[in-house]
Amino acid sequence: MLDAVRRAALDVIVVFDGLAPAAITPERCPWLCSVRDRSSRFTAARAQLPSVTRVNAATLATGVRPGRHGLVGNSIRVRELGLDRAVWTSDRHDLLAVRKACGSILLAPTVGELLAAAGRRTVVVNTGSAGVSLLLDPTAHGGGPGIRVNTRDADPLAEPAWAAGELHARFGAPADDRADQLRYAVDALAYLIEAHQPDVAVLWLTEPDASQHRHGPGSAQSLAALATADAALGRLVDALEALGHADDTNLWVASDHGSSPMTGRVNLAEELAAAGFGRGISCCDDGTSAIWLDDPADPVAERLVAWLRRQPWTGVLFGADGLPDTVPLSLIGAVGPRSPQLFVGYAPGWYSAQAGPTTDAPDWHGCHGSGYRRDVHSVLQVTGPDYRSDVDLTAPAGLIDVLPTIAAGLGIDADFDGRVLTEARPGGPAPAATTTRLALPGARATVNRVAGVSYVDEIVPDR
Ligand SMILES: [Zn+2]
Repeated sequence: MLDAVRRAALDVIVVFDGLAPAAITPERCPWLCSVRDRSSRFTAARAQLPSVTRVNAATLATGVRPGRHGLVGNSIRVRELGLDRAVWTSDRHDLLAVRKACGSILLAPTVGELLAAAGRRTVVVNTGSAGVSLLLDPTAHGGGPGIRVNTRDADPLAEPAWAAGELHARFGAPADDRADQLRYAVDALAYLIEAHQPDVAVLWLTEPDASQHRHGPGSAQSLAALATADAALGRLVDALEALGHADDTNLWVASDHGSSPMTGRVNLAEELAAAGFGRGISCCDDGTSAIWLDDPADPVAERLVAWLRRQPWTGVLFGADGLPDTVPLSLIGAVGPRSPQLFVGYAPGWYSAQAGPTTDAPDWHGCHGSGYRRDVHSVLQVTGPDYRSDVDLTAPAGLIDVLPTIAAGLGIDADFDGRVLTEARPGGPAPAATTTRLALPGARATVNRVAGVSYVDEIVPDR
């Protein structure tokens, strides 16, 4: 175990789902900007690819790449389930089925598990689907001291049951209105911080992402939703001050990905079936879509790649290592036991977004999941007693580095893929970053490397 050096009593991580750096202005995000003014600002923050929510939530939860944590897309094929289809990872029933079949949802230790093993407590409050909070796993799959709260997918409202009882007794049930839910989430988190003194707390706000999907990034509705999320951050800052935690909290503000306008829509499953690729193949529709072959060695894979290359909506194709004419999955850290044979990225503006039983995708005007900068460039900043104040840090960084950095402060050692963000520590050295431009099969990429960790700056189709 490392020496614990954290001076703060608490790390709080606020995630604005889908917030692109360019959307932040003092007018619509006064709280975020005021916190940013005194933060270490990672000006080159990058999402993990595929740049979708649950991939990044699992990356934050574990500090490792998707290949190792196993949550390689918003949908995953889990062979232990014995199904010939992928399961949808926002659905708590599907995720709990994975947990039952495999012992845990993710293949790497989570923040909930790592902290529990060190006698520490994690609290997660999420305003979206239960998927994110199950992946962050504050209760260490139900056996640890942490608390999991979901204000929208609130069945149950919280785990363990006693925590749900406390919140119901104090605040009642969350309302349907989204702004009310954000306020409820902040009040619930503040209460749990006061009553149960977690060491790490995560507040995951589903806006502006939900509104960006429905109305498009930059729309009046999504900007209004961003302002509502910013007000929730302000409510949290005020609550921490009221609790006496203004000066002993490391406050992280981050996003999991950005967002792009959606101008074209593909139903990948229908396209594959119409082209005669149905048998032995399953796929998910997503911002970048996974394709699984029942037999990973099926030679149909090469024919599939050639066919995909001819489609006007195809962007970057990622393939299992050894599959010709594709970008290796290893470039995005997605090689592992649950990896698909192919990831299909889409041409600019195109997405496949029919996925999941709960989405209202036909009405969508925005999406993400690609390697385009609008999707990949994200937000990361931290302020508190353990970090430098009011400084721009230009080395690439990301959600993958947050747990390794917090764990190092707590003296918790684990085999992370992310790095400790030493440059944000007082007197910490600035790491050297290198930039490599790659010409890949059908794609061009810019990749940065810092302290042994790679960050994809962008990857675009070469056509
Ligand atoms: Zn997201």
